[in-house]
Amino acid sequence: MGDTVAKKDTTKTTPTDDEKRKEVVIPSRTIDLIILHCTATPDGKPHTVAQIDAGHLARGWHRKASWKKLQNPDLTSIGYHFVIYPDGSVHTGRHEMEQGAHVQGMNVTSLGVSMVGSYKFTQAQWTSLASKVAELESKYSVTEVHGHNEYAAKDCPGFKVKDWLDGGRKPLAANLIEEPKPATPATPTSGPQ
Ligand SMILES: [Zn+2]
Repeated sequence: MGDTVAKKDTTKTTPTDDEKRKEVVIPSRTIDLIILHCTATPDGKPHTVAQIDAGHLARGWHRKASWKKLQNPDLTSIGYHFVIYPDGSVHTGRHEMEQGAHVQGMNVTSLGVSMVGSYKFTQAQWTSLASKVAELESKYSVTEVHGHNEYAAKDCPGFKVKDWLDGGRKPLAANLIEEPKPATPATPTSGPQ
């Protein structure tokens, strides 16, 4: 018997249907809500998913081994699905199909997207936020986008998501980091056009 199995293993070139199923099947869940967060770290300063992960580990959160195997095995705890750095780059945390840990009682059908910072974000971050949210809305049947502060008595994500949505998803002036001025003064352009 053992001999037959061994022979089968060495001669096969393609996985059996059962093996294929084991490899590709990812548990799925319904996603209908996106909740925005911030990392509550200094505005405009780098803060990595690894650092967020360490903070969430300290809170006692743990990802299941099966999900770590599918995505970001080094991240043991992170509760968010996406993190947007001050340079506008978007980084993954939990797998989209993996339940997050970011808003008590609201994690089952939601995705958590977090902006690095506390109250003010770069133009690049705002641009990435708008495109990432739009991408997720079209990928899933997302019907609502909210901020963490709509579910809990906290400032997170540092702005009112409703204002952002109502304003056409443009950066909120009060929450935008001013870009550094050019080194050489530009010619005044304030005259009538
Ligand atoms: Zn939050």
